[in-house]
Amino acid sequence: MANSTLPALLGGKPLFDPPIPITRPTLPPPEELLDSLQEILSTGMLTTGKYVRELEARVAEYLGVPYAVAVSSCTSGLMLVLRAYGLVGEVLLPSFTFPVTGHVALWNQLEPHFVDIDPQTFNMDPHLVEQALGPKTAAILGVHIYGNPSYPTELEEIARRHGVKLVFDAAHGLGATYRGRKVGSFGDAEVFSLSPTKLVVAGEGGIVATRDEELARLIRIGRDYANPGNYDTEYAGMNARMPEMNAALGLKTLEMLDENVKRRNRLVGLYRDGLGQLPGLRFQVIDEEADTTYKDFGMLTDSGAFGLSRDELAVALEAEGVITRKYYSPPLHRQRAYAAYKERYDGRLPVTEEVAGQVLCLPLFSHMEMGSVEAICEAVTRVHHHQERVREYLAQNK
Ligand SMILES: *Cc1c(COP(=O)(O)O)cnc(C)c1O
Repeated sequence: MANSTLPALLGGKPLFDPPIPITRPTLPPPEELLDSLQEILSTGMLTTGKYVRELEARVAEYLGVPYAVAVSSCTSGLMLVLRAYGLVGEVLLPSFTFPVTGHVALWNQLEPHFVDIDPQTFNMDPHLVEQALGPKTAAILGVHIYGNPSYPTELEEIARRHGVKLVFDAAHGLGATYRGRKVGSFGDAEVFSLSPTKLVVAGEGGIVATRDEELARLIRIGRDYANPGNYDTEYAGMNARMPEMNAALGLKTLEMLDENVKRRNRLVGLYRDGLGQLPGLRFQVIDEEADTTYKDFGMLTDSGAFGLSRDELAVALEAEGVITRKYYSPPLHRQRAYAAYKERYDGRLPVTEEVAGQVLCLPLFSHMEMGSVEAICEAVTRVHHHQERVREYLAQNK
C-alpha cells in the first residue's frame, strides 16, 4: 500500500498539522463589539445592566417562555434553581453526563440517584426514570446529551403524575427543538450554558429559562446574594451575576445560533456519510420529532467489529492531529467525587457503562470546514484499514 495512506502512527504523514481541536468557539468579528464595549466602559455599568436585560429578552422571545434570567454559568444557575425550590431528598439524574449535573445536587445536600440511559439516544430512559421514582424523590434532573432533547414531554408527564419538579441541565440544548417546541420551554426550568465550548458563547454565562414567575424572581435575587434590595436576604444566594461584556458577546452569538445549528447538522451528515459504512461504528440516534444542536458528535466504537478499541482509535487519531474527547467517560458514579456511590451503582447502569466505554467525540465546531470532516473520515478509515499493525504497534509501545 502506498505510503501516503499509511496512518501517521505507523510513519505516514499526519492529516492535520497543526492538529484540529475538538472544538472552537464561533465568534463575531471583534469590530462588531467595539461600540458596546465603549458604551459599557464609558458608562461604568459593568454588570447586570442593559445588555443583560436585552439578552434575557431575546432569549425569552426565542424560546417562547415568559422568563429568562441570565446568570454567571450553567453551574450557578442549576445550583440556584435547586436551592430556590427548597428541594430535600433525592434527585434522579443520569450518570452519563458532565460532572456539574451531579455536583449541583451535592451542593444542595440532595442525594443523587443515577438512572441508566437509552443505548440509542444516550439520554435517560423515561421508563427507568418512572421505575426509579420513590417517596424520597424531589426532582428529576434531565440532560439533553449533546443537544439531543431528553424525552422532554415524556418526562413532563411523569413529573406531573408524581408531583415532582422537573429541571433540565440544558447546557447543550440552546437551539434544539422537540415536537415543534424549543428546548428551554420544558419542565419547571431549563438552564443553558454560554461557556466557550457551547453554541451561544458569552465567555462565561448561563440562562435560566422558566414559566414559573416566582422561580424567576427567586433566581433574579438569588444571583445577587438573595438580597431583595434592603439587605434582608431571603435565602442563601450567591454572586451569580452576568457581566455586561459577556452579555454583549452573548447577544452577537445568539444571532448566529440557528445558522450554526444548521451547519453542525450538515457537518454531522458528512461524518455519518463518511463513517457509516465502516463496521463497528454507530452514532447517537435523534428522534424523528427532535432537532438536535450537535453540541458534540459522539460515535460508539465496538472494538470487536471495528478491529480497534475506542482508546486505540483515539491514540491513532491523535497521531493524525485529530483531537478527540471521551465525553462522558468516566461516568459520574465512577468519579472520585462520587466514590460514596460507586459500589451502590456497580453493575446497575449497564448501558451507561457500555456507552461510556465506547464513546468518542470527534472534532466539531460551527465554522469547521466541510473538508476537515472529510479528512477526519479518511483518518478513521485508514486507521481501520491498518488495524492489525496499529494494534501491534500500540501493544509494543505501551
Ligand atoms: C458545560 C456544561 C455544564 C457547565 O456549564 P458552565 O456554564 O460551565 O457552568 C453543565 N452541564 C453540562 C451538560 C455541560 O456540558
